[in-house]
Amino acid sequence: MPEGDTVWLAGRRLHDALAGHALTRTDFRVPQLATVDLSGRTVTEVVSRGKHLLFRADDDLTLHTHFRMDGTWHLYRPGERWRGGPQWQVRVLLETARWQAVGYRLPVVELLPRDREHEAVGHLGPDILGPDWDPEEAVRRLAADPDRELGQALLDQRNLAGIGNVYKAESCFLVGLSPWTRVGDVPDLAAVVDRAARLLQANKNTAAQVTTGDTRRGRQHWVFERGGRPCLRCGTAVASARQGDPPYDRISYWCPACQR
Ligand SMILES: [Zn+2]
Repeated sequence: MPEGDTVWLAGRRLHDALAGHALTRTDFRVPQLATVDLSGRTVTEVVSRGKHLLFRADDDLTLHTHFRMDGTWHLYRPGERWRGGPQWQVRVLLETARWQAVGYRLPVVELLPRDREHEAVGHLGPDILGPDWDPEEAVRRLAADPDRELGQALLDQRNLAGIGNVYKAESCFLVGLSPWTRVGDVPDLAAVVDRAARLLQANKNTAAQVTTGDTRRGRQHWVFERGGRPCLRCGTAVASARQGDPPYDRISYWCPACQR
């Protein structure tokens, strides 16, 4: 599942390609929008909110998409071969004179008036990579449910927006807390939020997600997807287990020695 930094970078690239240009062709391959044609409208901006993307066009129309597990947007020059998957996985095409933006496997594709964007993203907590990032509000929201497990609370986009399974695992490692820690037992929630925010900030301009400072293959993460392998800090075998209730359960990774 993409994390907030991946969506932020996708949004920036799509904005750079599309903003200020008229759509020459659109193709919505989702039943509820199958007859919609936005050609002639100009894309005014593309912005990310947590893991959501908002394509704003003139006449105050917004296209809202979400990546969920394996959605993605690709940019191609006209005539270039599409490589994001089979044709039947294409959900949206937005074409200008210079670019084709192709959305694959997007589970959420909806059009809404600009003044109703809050219906799509209003539930989100402060966006780590947003212009209005508010770490104190994120801490306040996390602290409001002290019995929750920290790993679960960090993934809940209503608390703060942008953290996925990678940065959840790595933030917990870097502050020395197991993802199973009760939020109420976390000595310094602000430090956890600050650590997660710095990881997303550090990675937002590249496709890589390096949390160790070491870009070598197999050394980019402290514990994420390292179950059973030695902790890079202390050598103890990294533990892994499902956390949360299905279908929202995710695998958590942690070092039993470094993270109490
Ligand atoms: Zn360790």
